[in-house]
Amino acid sequence: MVSQLHKFIFDGLPVRGVLVQLTDTWTEILRRRASNTQHGAYPAPLRDMLGQMTAAATLMQSNIKFDGSLTMQIMGDGPVKLAVVEVQPDLALRATATLIGVLPEAASLSHMVNARNQGRCAITLDPKTKFPGQQPYQGVVPLFDDDGVPIERLSEVLEHYMLQSEQLDTTLMLAANGTMAAGLLIQRLPVQGAGNLEGSMVSRENEDAIGRNEDYQRIAILAKTLQAEELLRLDADTILRRLFWEESLTRFEPLHGANGPRFACSCSRERVARMIVSLGADEAHSVIEERGELEVACEFCGVQYRFDPVDTAQLFVDPTRQAAPGSSAH
Ligand SMILES: [Zn+2]
Repeated sequence: MVSQLHKFIFDGLPVRGVLVQLTDTWTEILRRRASNTQHGAYPAPLRDMLGQMTAAATLMQSNIKFDGSLTMQIMGDGPVKLAVVEVQPDLALRATATLIGVLPEAASLSHMVNARNQGRCAITLDPKTKFPGQQPYQGVVPLFDDDGVPIERLSEVLEHYMLQSEQLDTTLMLAANGTMAAGLLIQRLPVQGAGNLEGSMVSRENEDAIGRNEDYQRIAILAKTLQAEELLRLDADTILRRLFWEESLTRFEPLHGANGPRFACSCSRERVARMIVSLGADEAHSVIEERGELEVACEFCGVQYRFDPVDTAQLFVDPTRQAAPGSSAH
């Protein structure tokens, strides 16, 4: 199965949905990390958390009209210091996490990122074109509920965020393993015109509708019957039919391939080569002397680029690569 994203609406009802299943996109993220000789593969609990974040960030990016990147970050106070997913408007995405120490086999969300209830989840929307002085929009939510009790499901953290930031009821089902990261989002559409004029009657009407729309409530209850194992094993048609066979759905053309969610990282061997050249020949050769090779890892995807003594020497003899004048001109 290729990575794919399905959007749909419930005919005549103020409810919409998105289903995402990341396969090759997700395993490429895992493969790059596992190939890193310094970090090695993600332990299972962290892998599954990052997979759920990746599915959720993709759902959220596909669900907003916004021309810019969406970044979901968890700043943890446990062994997982940081987990980040970045999704572009065209659904190109990448993800990474920083782990200090070791995780037990069945580490919970709070064990990983909310050990002292100080963990935070931030969503940043960074517009592609900004007017002068414009800052990216960022919303932050804690990893505990209204009573200060740590939340153990990432989906619940994000449902809080959506209610707080968009004032929309949202139901999220998320699941991930070593081969797939998947999610289902069900959202109540704003009442007509809501969100246009802040503080007007219209948005108050919308606020009043929170938790009250019967159609949304019924569909949300159906969505919540979806098991993680079904989300990871069944295809989109089967999932939607099983959950919503009594509802009338209009589905849009699925997004996959070049139009769908896919892995992309901006790192390349060429970029790293330019960076080494900018360090200068002396610096580069001293590292080679000490370690036998130059190794630079991409912080975002974990891939390591290695330059042996011959590679490195070539960087400095190829005149097209010369960065600043004077580095080795004589
Ligand atoms: Zn990279």
